[in-house]
Amino acid sequence: MAFPSDLEIARGAKLKPIDDIAADMGLPPRLLEPYGRDVMKVGLEAIDELKGAPRAKYVLVSAITPTPLGEGKTTTTVGLGQGFKHVGKQATVAVRQPSMGPTLGIKGGAAGGGYSQVVPMELLNLHLTGDMHAVTAAHNLLAAMVDNHLHQGNALNLDPREISWRRVLDMNDRALRNIVIGLGAKADGVTRQTGFDITAASEVMAALALTTGLEDLRERLGRIVVGYTVDGEPVTAEQLETAGAMTVLLREAIKPNIMQTLENTPVLVHCGPFGNIATGNSSVVADLIGLRTGDYLITEAGFGADMGAERFFNIKCRVSGEAPDAAVLVATVRALKAHSGKFKIVAGRPLPADLLKENPDDVHAGAANLRKQIENIRMHGVSPVVAINAFPGDFDSEHAVIREIAEEMGARVAVSTHFSEGGAGAVELAEVVAEAAEEPSEFRLLYPSSAPLREKIETIATKVYGADGVSYSPTARRQLDRFERNGFGELPVCMAKTHLSISSDPKLLGAPTGWTLPVREVRASVGAGFVYPIAGDMRTMPGLGSSPAATRIDFDDNGDIVGLS
Ligand code: ADP
Ligand code: MG
Repeated sequence: MAFPSDLEIARGAKLKPIDDIAADMGLPPRLLEPYGRDVMKVGLEAIDELKGAPRAKYVLVSAITPTPLGEGKTTTTVGLGQGFKHVGKQATVAVRQPSMGPTLGIKGGAAGGGYSQVVPMELLNLHLTGDMHAVTAAHNLLAAMVDNHLHQGNALNLDPREISWRRVLDMNDRALRNIVIGLGAKADGVTRQTGFDITAASEVMAALALTTGLEDLRERLGRIVVGYTVDGEPVTAEQLETAGAMTVLLREAIKPNIMQTLENTPVLVHCGPFGNIATGNSSVVADLIGLRTGDYLITEAGFGADMGAERFFNIKCRVSGEAPDAAVLVATVRALKAHSGKFKIVAGRPLPADLLKENPDDVHAGAANLRKQIENIRMHGVSPVVAINAFPGDFDSEHAVIREIAEEMGARVAVSTHFSEGGAGAVELAEVVAEAAEEPSEFRLLYPSSAPLREKIETIATKVYGADGVSYSPTARRQLDRFERNGFGELPVCMAKTHLSISSDPKLLGAPTGWTLPVREVRASVGAGFVYPIAGDMRTMPGLGSSPAATRIDFDDNGDIVGLS
């Protein structure tokens, strides 16, 4: 019998009443707000009220450098959460809310996979409780206020060519990347060129993900820089008197959503900042709550450890003040084989036939990437655990190679079959993660906030990426100088580079050395709270492909949704 689709498995789920899930987390009803039948929001009062509860072990899930297909971080995060129940421990899982752009575009869903999923997956993937739409509204309110300011006489002397605040939409729509607004009569606004980004790329989303509470969010939104005056001074949302209304629009979106896994493990779903130009991590507030709701809080960071984990440590943990107790590095046979350089994996196409054959040597040939990513976890003082995410076609001999590499590096390792077996398949992983989390935490940030921006960039480039150094374009130099002058130099750095290589060149596999990181441009998300240097082409509004998932999504004769994976 063929392995059932994610949607078929999800449809067979036996959901526990969501009140019972919240009760399992130790959350009293007064902190909860039902959103329909299967989702609840939890109020931020929980952060203070639960301070007395025992703190869970904080476990990050990251990965080796992935192929364009993804190596199963979400699936492993969910599987590990389920696995803990099988060893008598209570875990809570924290994940991002998927963006509808990719859901309707290429991916068809991001709720995990197989027998390790967040349910109901239709809800998770489509709208959920409307948080994305609230972010869209808050973001676009500020855009409307900017254009109205120009229309009403531009008292702040904003330079129309220096306005960086664009509009957002939770959709892949390439035709909106560059647009002209304000066409028509004088009363129809000031004509200028601008564009749309996907909502996940909104600075409002990044701010929401990094905030610690409503007051802090209000301050972050106020600090958002929408552009510069003719004299080069930053203009903020506070100056446009918009931050208060934006915060009000986000009053529900700031509360994390409670869902569950196929095996009724509690899941906090909250925020979905873009991995390309923002942290790619779920929210700080969800983690602060989740850390008081069980024995383990398992949280996922997007992309490979050089990207997601580095930002988790140096941006998210810097804000939250929380130290992780262990970090899981998801590794797959297919990704290690891809790092050998012998195979080309393209999303939407079948895997190369040779890659699917038993060949431990090909796995070994990709070892450098795993080794470097283990180091990247360790340099932050965190214990790494390699999770071999087993695919149905894998061979034991190939898993043995990954085990060997991990053990040579002194890292704990486990094979996990949570995709095909659910939590029962993640028991070994749960056990070694528990062991790793018992080691005393020696968590350390890679750089102090006080270091100059260039030093921060160079530290990440040389230590984490293995670059020889950094080169800056004249534009990047000017921008860095301007940011230091404006007082943004204390912010951490969120590097915008490809996730398909530890380097800035997606074609360089393994653990490249002897290269220089080219910083083309630097932008500041002052409200969210980071500066992002751009090394490579960064899309902030994806397009649809030739066969979007939307063409397959529909209702079947029973009124059930099809095509969501
Ligand atoms: P990530 O979070 O790292 O991007 P996901 O967990 O979303 O990765 O997984 C990427 C894709 O691979 C999903 O379609 C998922 O269902 C699939 N997948 C993950 N792990 C396995 C596995 N062990 N066997 C088969 N498919 C898997
Ligand atoms: Mg994921």
